[in-house]
Amino acid sequence: MTPNGLSMDVSTPAKRKILISGASIAGPALAYWLHRSGFAVTVVEKAGALRAGGYPIDIRGTAIEVVRRMGILPQLRDAHIDSLRCTFLNADGSTLASLSPSAVAGSVEGQDLEVRRGDLATALYAIVRDDVEFVFDDSIDTLDQSEQAVDVTFHSGQQRTFDLVIGADGMHSRTRESLFGPEEQFHRYLGYCFAIFTMPNTFGLSRELMLWNTPGKAAALYAVGDNDELHAFLNFHQPEPPFDALRNPDAQRDLIATVFAGAGWEVPGMVDAMRDADDLFFDTAGQIRMPHWSSGRVALVGDAAYAPSFLTGQGSSLALVGAYMLANALATNRDHPDHRDHTAAFTAYERDVREFVAMNQALVDKGAATLFPTTARALEQRNTMLRDLDTMPSATARPAHSALALPGFAPVP
Ligand SMILES: Cc1cc2nc3c(=O)[nH]c(=O)nc-3n(C[C@H](O)[C@H](O)[C@H](O)COP(=O)(O)OP(=O)(O)OC[C@H]3O[C@@H](n4cnc5c(N)ncnc54)[C@H](O)[C@@H]3O)c2cc1C
Repeated sequence: MTPNGLSMDVSTPAKRKILISGASIAGPALAYWLHRSGFAVTVVEKAGALRAGGYPIDIRGTAIEVVRRMGILPQLRDAHIDSLRCTFLNADGSTLASLSPSAVAGSVEGQDLEVRRGDLATALYAIVRDDVEFVFDDSIDTLDQSEQAVDVTFHSGQQRTFDLVIGADGMHSRTRESLFGPEEQFHRYLGYCFAIFTMPNTFGLSRELMLWNTPGKAAALYAVGDNDELHAFLNFHQPEPPFDALRNPDAQRDLIATVFAGAGWEVPGMVDAMRDADDLFFDTAGQIRMPHWSSGRVALVGDAAYAPSFLTGQGSSLALVGAYMLANALATNRDHPDHRDHTAAFTAYERDVREFVAMNQALVDKGAATLFPTTARALEQRNTMLRDLDTMPSATARPAHSALALPGFAPVP
């Protein structure tokens, strides 16, 4: 008998143990659904604590239903940024058009959400932290798969054995590299590099975005509230990825300063602020496209498997939907009679999610992001479209955002 008087079924199999690498968006979302389905979950994160910060992110379409089912929709609605306007500027800083943010982002007003990335990560962590083991400041060093299990050696030296391992460790996933090889094979470079950092709000901006463009260059200042800080963003067209700069912050700063030398508007001040910023985030805009998302007992979720790039605004939505679908597939196949349930589950996960991923990744093409035209002609066409948008009604739901109908979740054992 158990302490509460219920008889214990001695034949109940031990909980299956799953290790997730990465505690950002996909990792904690997956941990939540796997715990609910009766798995014992451990999450390892290489940072010392949950990483806040980052540019605001969108949650749209099917992903809204995922966060509703997790019970965090009301608090995310409270955290919704709700910007008042998005102002487009000409090369000399004069105003080209001032629009409602939903008209620009293609989001559905009153339904889709834009929140600080840290607010979403914190909300996800809060609903799972008491039920799941989190190990910060550590990472997977080696994975050794056998028919029965995966032996994991951690950077800390600890060795543990899990039934399955899931890589939710982002665009530059180590899990993917150790399983499938170097990132270059799967990275589709989209022709842009970008830098994000915070700087003082000396412009008096409030709940608004200002976006300046010249062909192949863009600069944005984003005031997400009424506070003293702005999210600054510099984006530029670069035909080949600058591999040397990717691992060298000084080279990143030099590259940006060179590209934006002589630019108008507030760009010189932004470049100065970028030099001093202690939170500079520089990367290429790219996608991860893989023929398979799993190998044996290890699978990938979120950006690690199918990063769509920030140009689609769909990274967090795909991570949330992918986590739900992967957990649901594992829960559905949990009691598969031949004990190879993970194989059937990983196959179902890929089968059901791949088309949704492909539609979302197809929202952008190489060097062709609508907000960042690379030629004078494309910029003029974009500007004409923006002037017309001024008079158009709000966007309706985009098929790519809502193309996947979520299945009901497999019952908890
Ligand atoms: C600090 C931060 C800021 C970001 N800012 C932006 C932004 O401004 N705009 C934007 O579009 N997207 C941003 N992103 C990416 C955005 O969160 C993702 O595109 C999207 O939410 C998908 O999430 P994900 O969980 O799949 O991957 P990610 O959010 O990239 O999370 C991956 C997680 O894995 C951890 N990790 C990485 N390697 C290892 C390892 N070897 N072992 C253990 N853990 C590891 C990382 O620290 C991170 O917590 C940011 C991500 C982070 C972590």
